[in-house]
Amino acid sequence: MNRVALVTGGTRGIGRAICEQLKADGFNVVANYAGNDAAAQQFSEETGIPVYKFDVGDHAATQAGCDQIAAEIGPIEVVVNNAGITRDGTLHKMSFDDWNDVMRINLGGCFNTSKACFPGMRERGWGRIVNIGSINGQAGQYGQVNYAAAKSGIHGFTKALAQEGARAGVTVNAIAPGYIDTDMVAAVPQGVLDKIIAGIPVGRLGQAEEIARGVSFLCSEDAGFVTGSTMSINGGQHMY
Ligand code: NDP
Repeated sequence: MNRVALVTGGTRGIGRAICEQLKADGFNVVANYAGNDAAAQQFSEETGIPVYKFDVGDHAATQAGCDQIAAEIGPIEVVVNNAGITRDGTLHKMSFDDWNDVMRINLGGCFNTSKACFPGMRERGWGRIVNIGSINGQAGQYGQVNYAAAKSGIHGFTKALAQEGARAGVTVNAIAPGYIDTDMVAAVPQGVLDKIIAGIPVGRLGQAEEIARGVSFLCSEDAGFVTGSTMSINGGQHMY
């Protein structure tokens, strides 16, 4: 039986590309999403991948969602923590809700899915967790103290959990994408985007499929010796 792979925020953007790649790799993929039912339905019809709606920032809902997937599809052996949001603004304009929502969903989501899925992976002696961080968690970004903190937290979370899973055959890695051509980046004003692209050595935005291929490797049998690492896929924008 093919291994079950859960991709959070899998119905759009980078998550969708990850779902399609993992399906092509032979995983039994399920996608989670938060609220955009129309996009989820279209995704599911086009890909044949089942969708599960729950807020990864909600601890109880995530546990219930993962339990439901395990009961209906099978034990979850791969988790790609991809769901994420932005609530940008400089600190003096940022509300506590803007801070808290980003921390709760982007970083809390990794905790919540891991609490639900990591113990079973350890018991079965095999697992893959891939957390989608960000270049802005590595380098910081004006107007994103919430997002940069959450994404930087993901990188620390990854290195800590990797140590807990290593002896049990569970690898935990992160990918730090640079600027990728998705709805999230479409929300950036064009003038700002032009300046960002000018600072990317390869001279273009990345494609979601380029992140998905990194996830594919980290989820493969061949990547069993890779754990606690951060793979930067950013066109050379940030080189450490
Ligand atoms: P999109 O905004 O295009 O898609 C986000 C996906 O996450 C959607 O499927 C959305 O579901 C889902 N989602 C949002 N909030 C929740 C939640 N609370 N619970 C469950 N699912 C949720 O994002 P991208 O594809 O651009 O980004 C994907 C990841 O990559 C994010 O973590 C982002 O921070 C990261 N990233 C993106 C970069 C980029 O340039 N695009 C750069 C670096 C990192 P729904 O459709 O229901 O809203």
